[in-house]
Amino acid sequence: MGSNGKEKNNAAELNGHFNHLKIADATNDYGTADYVIFGVPFDNTSSYRRGSRLAPNSIRIAYDNLESYEVNYGIDFGECNIADLGDLPAYEDVNYTISEVEDVTRLIFNDKKIPIMLGGEHSITIGAIRNLKDVDMVIIDAHSDFRDSYFENKFNHACVTRRALEMLGRDKIISIGTRSTSREEIESEAYKNVRFVSANEVRLKGIKNIINEIKSKFDKNIYFSIDMDGIDPAYAPGVGTPEPYGLLANDVKEIINALADKIIGFDIVEITPLYDNGNTSMLAAKFIQDFIASRENILKNFKN
Ligand code: MN
Ligand code: MN
Repeated sequence: MGSNGKEKNNAAELNGHFNHLKIADATNDYGTADYVIFGVPFDNTSSYRRGSRLAPNSIRIAYDNLESYEVNYGIDFGECNIADLGDLPAYEDVNYTISEVEDVTRLIFNDKKIPIMLGGEHSITIGAIRNLKDVDMVIIDAHSDFRDSYFENKFNHACVTRRALEMLGRDKIISIGTRSTSREEIESEAYKNVRFVSANEVRLKGIKNIINEIKSKFDKNIYFSIDMDGIDPAYAPGVGTPEPYGLLANDVKEIINALADKIIGFDIVEITPLYDNGNTSMLAAKFIQDFIASRENILKNFKN
């Protein structure tokens, strides 16, 4: 009888041939990691183009194409402490999914590690925010996501900023790239409690001035959430609800660079690989590298 590949040496040899679909630079286990990546393949409340449940692995595959040395920051990701836990199971129910995210991120925050969550749709961000008090939040999004409820669901992905406002309080959220909001949202009393920076305002003022505004208003730790539809569809076509006239990829990169040392939680949501030409997942993978590399670069210079 054969060993069916269960002999120790055979199995070790086989392991080297297979792709375990981790972020390529995630060479640490959880215990030694500073950055903890995981996927949440959930897209049940998406209103237009589904498929964000497929994005975590699409981002991981795109990431395989990137160098492990980031020449722009002089950072070798092999020397950074990154873990990839894999994906949460794909639950049907939004309430259950959010509470799972809440439980997982609570442990990660308590261990003083930084969660990097790969959506999935934007509603999953609510789970992470539930653990946080006295933090500021920066959102990249084409949409205000400010409906009180949508399709009778308060945890629909169209309600994320509204829920975050309830948890974090007024003047704690800046959402950048806004160019789609309903009359009901913009006329609501609470709308002025969030600073919505339209994509057009970014274009007219320049991203440096917007970054200066963020820095003048925010002095706490920051939770950073990237809804990929905030970026122009030319750079990020594979999203659930695309909206023309968006941010430049470099605008978002510069915001990440400027805030990296303050960021305690990070997510990238709303990519749907079914409508992508590959660029959206690639850009998401690069944002992860830009975040880790710029943060490590700031910390390294701080130590010296
Ligand atoms: Mn959103
Ligand atoms: Mn959006």
